[in-house]
Formats: sequence, structure tokens, C-alpha cells
Amino acid sequence: KASVMDGDKFDYDEMEDSIEKSKAKSASEALQAERKKLPIYAYRDELLKAVEKYQVLVIVGETGSGKTTQIPQYLHEAGYTKHGMIACTQPRRVAAMSVSARVAQELGVKLGHEVGYSIRFEDCTSDKTILKYMTDGMLLREFLGEPDLASYSVVMVDEAHERTLSTDILFGLVKDISRFRPDLKLLISSATLDAEKFSDYFDSAPIFKIPGRRYPVEIHFTKAPEADYLDAAIVTSLQIHVTQPPGDILIFLTGQEEIETAEEILKHRTRGLGTKIAELIICPIYANLPTELQAKIFEPTPEGARKVVLATNIAETSLTIDGIKYVIDPGFVKMKSYNPKTGMESLLVSPISKASAMQRAGRSGRTGPGKCFRLYTAYNYQNDLDDNTVPEIQRTNLANVVLTLKSLGIHDLLHFDFMDPPPAEALLKALELLFALSALNKLGELTKVGRRMAEFPVDPMLSKMIVVSEKYKCSEDIISIAAMLSIGNSIFYRPKDKQVHADNARLNFHTGNVGDHIALLKVYNSWKETNYSTQWCYENYIQVRSMKRARDIRDQLAGLLERVEIELTTNSSDLDAIKKSITSGFFPHSAKLQKNGSYRTVKHAQTVHIHPSSGLAQVLPRWAVYHELVLTTKEYMRQITELKPEWLVEIAPHYYQLKDVEDTSSKKMPRGEGRA
Ligand code: ADP
Ligand code: MG
Repeated sequence: KASVMDGDKFDYDEMEDSIEKSKAKSASEALQAERKKLPIYAYRDELLKAVEKYQVLVIVGETGSGKTTQIPQYLHEAGYTKHGMIACTQPRRVAAMSVSARVAQELGVKLGHEVGYSIRFEDCTSDKTILKYMTDGMLLREFLGEPDLASYSVVMVDEAHERTLSTDILFGLVKDISRFRPDLKLLISSATLDAEKFSDYFDSAPIFKIPGRRYPVEIHFTKAPEADYLDAAIVTSLQIHVTQPPGDILIFLTGQEEIETAEEILKHRTRGLGTKIAELIICPIYANLPTELQAKIFEPTPEGARKVVLATNIAETSLTIDGIKYVIDPGFVKMKSYNPKTGMESLLVSPISKASAMQRAGRSGRTGPGKCFRLYTAYNYQNDLDDNTVPEIQRTNLANVVLTLKSLGIHDLLHFDFMDPPPAEALLKALELLFALSALNKLGELTKVGRRMAEFPVDPMLSKMIVVSEKYKCSEDIISIAAMLSIGNSIFYRPKDKQVHADNARLNFHTGNVGDHIALLKVYNSWKETNYSTQWCYENYIQVRSMKRARDIRDQLAGLLERVEIELTTNSSDLDAIKKSITSGFFPHSAKLQKNGSYRTVKHAQTVHIHPSSGLAQVLPRWAVYHELVLTTKEYMRQITELKPEWLVEIAPHYYQLKDVEDTSSKKMPRGEGRA
């Protein structure tokens, strides 16, 4: 018999264990109870019957009714996962991550096991996965490896109303495979009422409506236009906080930078409010927000406090945050715009559509009556806002999609079954660019280069730069650069009180005016030499998190190089070889210095400027190749490398002629004498 002591201990452990178990049990019971409270729950059986009866179903239900989190679970419970996975596509990666996390929690499984997500450069799934949340772009890429999507029994194209480019292309592809795969169930779900259009497109598929609960929303417009909407939004949120009854606030902003600014100002101003005013919890949410912070927006607001969520458009329909009672809508969104004449693409802060404004307002009336403060006038709303947002396919560069479709063997793009066709001019531009990059031949057929490029989940100019690195024997260097470019502009940081130190640290990587691409390579290599040290990042004002992400992306690119049988070789002592590789992908983005210090693009004679953050901003090289254009106050080139004009003719003789690159300015320099 065990001693008394042992016995005590045994009992104690067991007791603790059972307390833990009952805690977990009540947590999961609470979650199950919550599931049943969602509007969609009442329609569960009816919905399952409709899915059984029809191959294609259009589902319409207000945001927050439970479409994304519940439908895949219902289908799983009904046995649809016995013969394949359920895919649920999302236009935004944060939504894919956050929703899958929730569903895993509801099912009581670890994220990445039965429930997983797949976004570009991050695959959080396993052999066990049966419910797969993924970006629409990732499902599109899956067609390359599995043209009939045989591993899936159900495809749910969610957030269809967003009409992203990838979603629109998916429509055509899934419609096609549904014809020869009668066992495949297809769900098209949308938050808005233009479901007829989806139904018409999918051969009159039936529409299943999930009536939402909606409380009245009081809408306020401003009397006069606001000069500074960010400031107006902050002031309005503080007024709500001080004068209005409990309930959380949601502010729609246009991007990370704006959100960070708002966060800082709000923190500063609430400090001055004194202790009599309730606590204001500030929760930002945008695409690049680190995963561990994303969950914060869903945490219930503590009694007596108020939450203010600073969100991009992601909170319009993709994510539902419970408890929002006040919405502040400045009326803007960051949107891609594309000029098919010049092939130039930029991100622009643009006015939203009326449909968006309605969705935004609706976010405040989900759990009770709400209020929406529009920071524009009723006149603006009536007269200046379009009814609907133009589908992305009609305002974007199509090169990537065209390359994907060509790789899928779809040659006749003009007759592809588009819901809304892209402008013919944009299609032609895409074909032209792919031809210039040697991805297509004169007949429009995929070349070997094009086939290799299509393996990389990046834009064609970037994939061309990667593929061509074989020729210049610098594939290792180029994928480091590509990975760093994919991170965007969140590598360096610049704390307000240490700006001089931060700037000096950054300039270190630019010694010799090597250009921004090579500087990124130096950052990566230096970090690697320290064995990926966090301390080193701190010392150099570099974001550790961004670097780790770059390393992950680089690893994946290295794997893909192997797949297309390109050897990993480094050539870091020959900077010209690396620069030529970059130029081979980005030659359409070349520009020449003008007398007034601005630049003019070589092909289309557009005026552009060096972004002040560039290491070459003070150097002003005569010829430059840039990674991208950003439009703020001016059209800026971001990430620039100096170029020798004769490279353009050498690398892209079919695109540039000698006369394009002749130096006609007064300060004529002998050929080949760069300013290294
Ligand atoms: P719909 O797709 O119809 O807009 P969802 O299925 O996304 O609706 O949302 C249903 C409910 O699940 C909402 O109340 C939402 O707040 C909740 N929810 C969704 N994702 C999360 C999450 N990551 N954490 C907590 N709650 C979540
Ligand atoms: Mg949803």
C-alpha cells in the first residue's frame, strides 16, 4: 500500500488534473454555445440539404453571420471530409490566419493539424489537414500542381464580393473543373446582395440567403469636408470615448503607417485625459501585423474599459470584431491602380464606394444599435462616391495571372470565361511584358524560361531576376535580395529619439553607393555572419522579425531553385553580375536622370523621383533601375540600383534600342564609365 504522503500527492494531482479538464471542457462548451448563437446556426440543416442537392451554391449572408467559420465545420460534420479536404479561400492572408485559428479552437485541435492555413511563403497545414483556409492566390497556385484539385471535395470561394484578381480567375477555373468533377461541391459566398450576378455566372446556381440580425445604425455626416481625416478620426474617437455610453470603436484607416501614427497620437492624447476617464485600449490590425498581436483584437474588452480598433479595410467584411458599437469612416481605402498605357502600377489612397460605406456602417449594428460617423459630407456621399468598387481585374497589372494561366495550358485568354473581362489593353500589355521577359515566345507560347518563372510565387519581373541569376552565377545573392524585397519596407526602424544613430547604422550598408538592392544583400549577409543574431539586429536598428521572415522566404526560394534545377552559387564579389541579374528582370523599370534632379523613365518618358529613403537619394546616378513606384506627394521610385545604359541594349535588345540609351544630356560621359 502506498504511504499516506504518496496517497495525498496522488489525490492532489488527480484533482488538479480534473480541474484543468473541467476548465477546458467548460471553455469548449462555451465555444460550442457561441457557435449555436450565430445567425447561420438556424439554417444549418437546410444549408446542408441544399449542398447535397446542388453542385454549385451561392451563399449570401451578412458579415459576422458565421459563413467563414461555420460552413466548413458543418460540411465536415456532415462527412464531406471523408473523401477530400475542404478549401475555403480568403482574399486576405490575415483573415486566413485568424479565421483558421478560431476554427481550430472551436474544434479543439492544434492549428496546422486538422485545421490549417496556407498563405504565400507560409504553409501551416499537415497530412492531417481537412479544413484548409487559404488565400485565393494560393488556391490558384495549387492548380499548377493539381489541375483538377483532386484532393478537395469542397471548394468554398469566400468573400466573393471582394472581386480580387485571384478570386475572379478562380471563378473561371472552378467553374470549368466542376463540369468534369460532378463530385466536387462549389460554394460561392458573399456578404453583399449582388448575388444574382454570381448565380448568373455559375449557370443559374441557386442562391441561399442567410438573413442576418441587424440593428439600426445612426449615420452622421460632417457638415463640411475634413482637411485632415486622420486628425478628425482621432478627435472623433476621443469625443466618443468621453461622451458616449460603453461600446467599442472601429476606425477605418488606409494602411500600416497611418495606423501606427494614429496609435501614437492616441496614446499621447489619452495620457492627458486623467484618471477619471475610462481606459482606452488601442488595437491595431493590418496585413503585416505580427501573428501574436493579431489575436489581441478579439480579446473581450474588460469591464469599464473601451477598445478602439484601428483597422485597414480588412475589418470591412473579412474579420468581425464583436462588441463594436461606433464606426468612424474617413471614406478612404488604399487601392491598386494601373495605367495600361505605361504599364505602371501604384497604390493610391482613393475614395471608397457607396457599397463599402454601407458595409462599414453595418459593422456598428451587429450586436445592438450602433452609430457611424462618416468624415465626409452627405453631398460627397451622394455625388462623389461610385456605387461599387471596380473589380481588381480591371485596374491591375495582369502579367502574373497571364503567366499562371499560360502555365495551366490556357492559351486563348481573350476567350477565357471572365465574370467581367479585363481591358484588352491590359491583357496585351501583360503579354508584351512576358514576351519582353522571354517568358513567352512570339506565338505567345510559354518558353522554358517562362515555365521556370511560373514556379516562383512572385511577380514575373522578380521571378525573371531569379531565374536569370543562373547565367550570372549569383543565385544565392539574388534570392537573398528577392527575399528582402518581399518583406517590403519594414526592415529598418527609426525610433524618434535615436534617429541619427539609426540613420548612421543604415548608411553603413550603403558604403560605396552600392545601391539599395546590394545594401539589402549586405544586411542579410551580415546578419547571417553573426549566426542570425538578435543582438546584432538591435545594434543596427533592424527589425528582427522582418529578418526572420526574409530568412523563411529565402529558404523557400532556395527550395524552388532546386526544383527548377538552378544551382546555388554565390558571386558576391562581382557586383556587376548581380546588378545585371537585377536588370534582366527589371529593365522595364529603368529611368534616366534629368537636369533638374528628377528622373524620366526610359520607355514611357514619365517623370519620377528617387525616394528619400534610398541610399542613392543624394548620389543621383545618371541611370537607375527601380523595384517599384509609390505615389505619395510625387511618383517615387523605391529600391534603386545604378545601371549602365549599355546593359539595357545588351540584356533587352528587343525592348531597347541604342537611341533609347544614348546619353544626350550636356554632361556627356564616355560609355561604360559608371559612377560606382
Ligand atoms: P462571416 O464569415 O459570416 O462574416 P465569421 O464566420 O467570420 O462570419 O464570424 C463568426 C463569428 O466568429 C463572429 O462573431 C466573429 O467575431 C467570430 N470570430 C471569427 N474569427 C475569430 C477569431 N480569430 N477569434 C475570435 N472570434 C472570431
Ligand atoms: Mg467571412
